[in-house]
Amino acid sequence: MESNPTITVADKLRRRICPNGCDRPINVCLCHKIPRQKIATKTKIIIIQHPHETRHKLATVPVLAKCLDNCEIVVGRRLRNTISPFLDSICADAVSNPQNARRVVFLFPGAKAMPSVDIEEWKSLHADDNVMSNLVLVAFDATWKHAKEMVQSSLPFLSKFATQVSLPISVEVDGPTIFSSELTLRKEPFSGCKSTIEAIARCLRVLEPNGDDTESRLIELLRDMVKFQASFLKPMKPRVKLLKKSKA
Ligand SMILES: [Zn+2]
Repeated sequence: MESNPTITVADKLRRRICPNGCDRPINVCLCHKIPRQKIATKTKIIIIQHPHETRHKLATVPVLAKCLDNCEIVVGRRLRNTISPFLDSICADAVSNPQNARRVVFLFPGAKAMPSVDIEEWKSLHADDNVMSNLVLVAFDATWKHAKEMVQSSLPFLSKFATQVSLPISVEVDGPTIFSSELTLRKEPFSGCKSTIEAIARCLRVLEPNGDDTESRLIELLRDMVKFQASFLKPMKPRVKLLKKSKA
């Protein structure tokens, strides 16, 4: 692209991507928030990120994924063969060697057409060391509407080897999320972080041997990053609704 003479030095700085690992614009680098010793989990976490989410330069999900030592992000609208070599191999195992294939759960609230198992119930049915040490958790990072579309179109592939799980409803109604309670940042890109990372943290509390600790470390990091990020943002202007012109 040709350089635009109206771009200022500050603009250029804002657009430069940090070379030290966080992949964010240099002026909002979050490298110092990434723990040197990443959060270890037995569960392998795969986040399927909608391509729109990658456009949010301030998204926190990719940085938090870097804080986990067993987490991978796959960008796409639909899971199918050839999108993730890792899931492909599990899918192949599930067909040829179902007894020994790694168990996979994907997190999405149930509906009539897509019933889900409560994650605590799922765990009580699979409280086997071998299963729990090799578990894979798939989560979707997208707006609610996109996530629904992603899950629906991924089902032909996912349903071959994965079980749909959901968080107990009490988690949702226990109280407001940290975003609505502490920081009034409920709009994108923050709503996406809430639904993805917070939900993953809640799942890990159930699935991991030191689940409480894993959950609180992750939530603490998320809170810390959002707080840091909020200090850079201009306050949001309330949307002004256009009044309909009255008929003359
Ligand atoms: Zn950085």
